[in-house]
Amino acid sequence: MIYKGLKIEDVIEDNVGVWSQVCESCAKKIDHANCNELIPLDKYLCGVENCQNIAKYYLEIESKKYINERSF
Ligand SMILES: [Zn+2]
Repeated sequence: MIYKGLKIEDVIEDNVGVWSQVCESCAKKIDHANCNELIPLDKYLCGVENCQNIAKYYLEIESKKYINERSF
């Protein structure tokens, strides 16, 4: 998948949304826009194609949190 000009190989889809993980340098390329939360354990490689750095941030590509916002 292409996300903001980067080709991301390692995309995970679960009940929270669609996400991957990126290293510091790739996070800069996509402007940190959706790079939140530091990854606690540095055991993941960056999800961008041909990048072998250790990932530093979760990258939120698509969110599915439409159920959360109900506090009546
Ligand atoms: Zn990277």
